[in-house]
Amino acid sequence: MMALAAYACDPQASRGRRHPEPSAPTRNAFQRDRDRIVHSTAFRRLVYKTQVFLNHEGDLFRTRLTHSLEVAQLGRSLARALGLHEDLVEAIALAHDLGHTPFGHAGQDALNECMATHGGFEHNLQSLRVVDGLEERYPQFDGLNLCFETREGILKHCSKRHAQALEAHEPGGVAARFLVNGQPSLEAQLCNIADEMAYNAHDIDDGVRSGLISMAQLSEVPLFDNYRLQVQAAFPDLSGRRLLYESIRRMLSDQVYDVLHATQSALQQHAPGSVQAVRQLPPLVQFSAEMKAQSTQLKSFLLHQLYRHPQVLQTTEWAKQVVRELFQAYLDNPHAMPEGHASRADLPRAVADYIAGMTDRFASREHARLTGVPNPA
Ligand code: MG
Repeated sequence: MMALAAYACDPQASRGRRHPEPSAPTRNAFQRDRDRIVHSTAFRRLVYKTQVFLNHEGDLFRTRLTHSLEVAQLGRSLARALGLHEDLVEAIALAHDLGHTPFGHAGQDALNECMATHGGFEHNLQSLRVVDGLEERYPQFDGLNLCFETREGILKHCSKRHAQALEAHEPGGVAARFLVNGQPSLEAQLCNIADEMAYNAHDIDDGVRSGLISMAQLSEVPLFDNYRLQVQAAFPDLSGRRLLYESIRRMLSDQVYDVLHATQSALQQHAPGSVQAVRQLPPLVQFSAEMKAQSTQLKSFLLHQLYRHPQVLQTTEWAKQVVRELFQAYLDNPHAMPEGHASRADLPRAVADYIAGMTDRFASREHARLTGVPNPA
């Protein structure tokens, strides 16, 4: 690992764990967090959770697990080049989607609607709930008891209302920055941008492979098409998957260097001397203005052509129905859930936690079991 920069998070200067623990003899605090995340139940479930395509639609599409691994890979590369803490970036990247419901955004939207009068549902907040409380592995505490810096990175977005509620439990804690418009560490900022880079790239790949979008359609997206033209000029006979992969590879690679340059110049300009200084500055991990605009264009293309493709919307509708009906079924009959959930004082929240933890196929099976309606897939 390259020497840590002054503005990086240092595990020895961590703001600590909620339940103090002796340090580990051979691992730094962020490595230990990463290891706890990898061993968690929520992490293993990511393999059967939808990213864009429902888990049963094909074996080669990204799942939340492979997405998280790609974010970790990009994040670590960037962290190393910027002198940031790679282990912390990896821990945040691997945990960032732990709170996602089954069936991707459709599942989360449905669950949020079900919880509208019970405090709502946000997947970022849920990721934090998973590592702070829902994982049951240790004798002395609930959750994984992660470091402040890892938790800070996991809580990527948070509404004012939820931030106030968190702040009441943990004054000056991970939600405080949402009340004062502060920034998280550079490692956390880096994970956000690595997340965006990863899904833009892999959704092109999955989108084309699924047949829902075509290379011809992608010619309206300059960020992608410039690389395709470049690749075709260098390899005139190339077509199909190799053309797609090489174009995506070049796009990702240029984005990595773009982030490095733009971030390095922001760091030079602001010269933060510590992570505390970073938290009070504007966001520093960034694309150049030009790359940002192109990335936004690509996102908008994916939104309209892929995420809102009629075939995707059709499965989306079904997924929402499954979540809504499951929610109602458990409210009506709490004992259809495991005892630990059924006996909780706040029943709607217990139901939301239970459903959010489900894999796509477990949710489908439970739905069929409780409603008698067979799963169409
Ligand atoms: Mg993500």
